[in-house]
Amino acid sequence: MTTTDNNTLFWGLGLSDIECKKIESSAPGYSVRNFSAGALPTDEEMEGEAPFLIWIPVRAWITMDDDFKSAILEWDPAQKVLLADAKDVLDVERLLDLGFLSVLRSPLATDKVQETLYRAREVHALYEDIVRMTREIALEREILSRKTDYLMFLNEFMARASESLNPATILTQARRDLCSLFAVSAVQGIFWQETGEEFVESEIFLTFQEDASIQEQWVEMLLESASRLSGVKVNSYQMTYLMDAEAKTDSTLEPAAGRVIMLPLKAGGKEFGTLALLTPAPVRLTKQQRDVLHSAVNHLGLALKNALLFREVKIKADHDGLTRIYNRQFFDKRIIEEMRRSQRYGQDISMMMFDLDHFKNINDTYGHQAGDLVLKEIGSLLMESLRTTDFAARYGGEEFAVILPHTGEEQAWLLAERLRYKVEKLRFRHDGKAFTVTTSIGVASLSASSFSRNPDLIKAADRALYLAKASGRNMVCTSDGCDEYMEELQEQKAGS
Ligand code: GH3
Ligand code: MG
Ligand code: MG
Repeated sequence: MTTTDNNTLFWGLGLSDIECKKIESSAPGYSVRNFSAGALPTDEEMEGEAPFLIWIPVRAWITMDDDFKSAILEWDPAQKVLLADAKDVLDVERLLDLGFLSVLRSPLATDKVQETLYRAREVHALYEDIVRMTREIALEREILSRKTDYLMFLNEFMARASESLNPATILTQARRDLCSLFAVSAVQGIFWQETGEEFVESEIFLTFQEDASIQEQWVEMLLESASRLSGVKVNSYQMTYLMDAEAKTDSTLEPAAGRVIMLPLKAGGKEFGTLALLTPAPVRLTKQQRDVLHSAVNHLGLALKNALLFREVKIKADHDGLTRIYNRQFFDKRIIEEMRRSQRYGQDISMMMFDLDHFKNINDTYGHQAGDLVLKEIGSLLMESLRTTDFAARYGGEEFAVILPHTGEEQAWLLAERLRYKVEKLRFRHDGKAFTVTTSIGVASLSASSFSRNPDLIKAADRALYLAKASGRNMVCTSDGCDEYMEELQEQKAGS
């Protein structure tokens, strides 16, 4: 007799027919599959069925070998009941300890069977509860540990995003950090600034990519996103390349479908950028991953906005608003650094001091705006004409200063003369009137050997400029030709 419904199945191990019938008649709905003492269940049968109860008479139990007994007693799904004769001498307590649910003495009465079944059900229900609770606890622990992992990730991600004030560094670091959430090949982006105008300038940060067509695709995609989010046409941009030595760009950086996640960046409730994440393969994020990603990107947005603002403020603080070249404050700091550097490496250094000639007349004749135009143009001329290592600043009203590291007096004089000539040749036009300006330039130089005297280069250039003015303007003078300066140096030398 077999049944596939384990909940209504009993097993007997060596029961007599009478015992089988008694049990079945006492427990309606249950059937007994009885194994004779000589043909006990095999391993396969134990795996295939899970009887609710196993009834075992003592007379059969004592004939079973010890391995089988242990296997049956340790078999959790089924509970075991021992049927004993009245005369059997048993240590009941020990048997219960071994794993029997109960020991029933003959005669096998209906009420005893039913009571045993009732207890078995109770124990079974308790057992099920324990199993379910254990499973729930394990699940909760797993959810909790995943949540803890995500929280730790966010905590570290946010801390690192705030470590730098350089947008490129923040993006590069973000890519590395996001990789612990899911694989990310590139984190790139576009930022724009609302100006209230019809067109907006933007800045794009792109992972360096040799393939120009792939780069174009990214630029197009980012510009399109910027235009859509800002509501105005964003068609001009500045490009900064992200150099991430750890980035795996060996496969393609192509923005293929399913591999790009575009995320708007907000600060103060306003969109100011778009982040583009590229994954190595199409990715489907879980809800939890999406939530964590959004929290991370929200914070990243703030860190990036902060970095962009910092850069803007720094540029404003260091630059002159009218000419866009460095201002006097920045110049004063820079000249000390450059002098120290030249001294340390034993290199020549020169500087030029410009002062526009009769500039007051320009203002008086053509108006202040015309004067401003001239100052702007002179600023641009300096920027265009100098090497990147040279350093030009607006020193005062219509005065400009230029530091020329690694440059001796002769070279400095030649450069000054060339600039003087360029200024003289500039043609200005304001309110329909054309005019020109000239400039006087003082040049001062320090050769590597003269540093011990600790001279004041600015003062020397100023004196040379004075000499140029006094000698008729529109000319270049060097401090070497300045007697007063030479005298002062002599005095300094005598005093030291
Ligand atoms: P010199 O050849 O002796 O240098 O004569 P100058 O007229 O250039 O000398 P001065 O120092 O007397 O005059 C400088 C003028 O530069 C006076 C001031 O109005 C003008 N100036 C200074 N800053 C600005 C500015 O930002 N914009 C304009 N338009 N003019 C400025
Ligand atoms: Mg002046
Ligand atoms: Mg002047």
